[in-house]
Amino acid sequence: MADLEALYRDVVLDHNRRPRNFRRLAAPCGCTDGVNPLCGDRLMVCLRIEDETVTEAAFEGSGCAISMASASMMTEAVTGRSRAEALSLADTVGAMLRGREGSALQGELLALSAVSAYPSRVKCALLAWEALRAGLTDGAARVSTEAQGRTSEGRPAEQRQARDGH
Ligand code: ZN
Repeated sequence: MADLEALYRDVVLDHNRRPRNFRRLAAPCGCTDGVNPLCGDRLMVCLRIEDETVTEAAFEGSGCAISMASASMMTEAVTGRSRAEALSLADTVGAMLRGREGSALQGELLALSAVSAYPSRVKCALLAWEALRAGLTDGAARVSTEAQGRTSEGRPAEQRQARDGH
């Protein structure tokens, strides 16, 4: 795990210092605003999709080092991929960040898996990928890390009203 930590630090530092594709895309492109209210990260992810392929990806905005580095890596990782491949990558990264998947990814993206050890930072790293997913699927103009993913835990309420005996 120490190697992963070191890789993580190097990768985040490097992308934070020199963000890739940190710019505005010329039209036509589709942009999605992403916010992570928990940390104050705010990104705009823009994609150009031609023939179902992401031909350009870029982002702007401001946030913590992890959110910016993750966005920078995301733009590099999805450029040249088909829409389906990019979505599948977003799924894989999301699962990895939530600690559900180990080493399905390689290189710099694997470094992001170190974030899963810091639950408070997971949404920082997820933000760019959620914006990517929204842009690829329904073209949503805005996503928030707090608007989704509230699932499963501790909701037994539905079962409680089955009793009615008069
Ligand atoms: Zn953050």
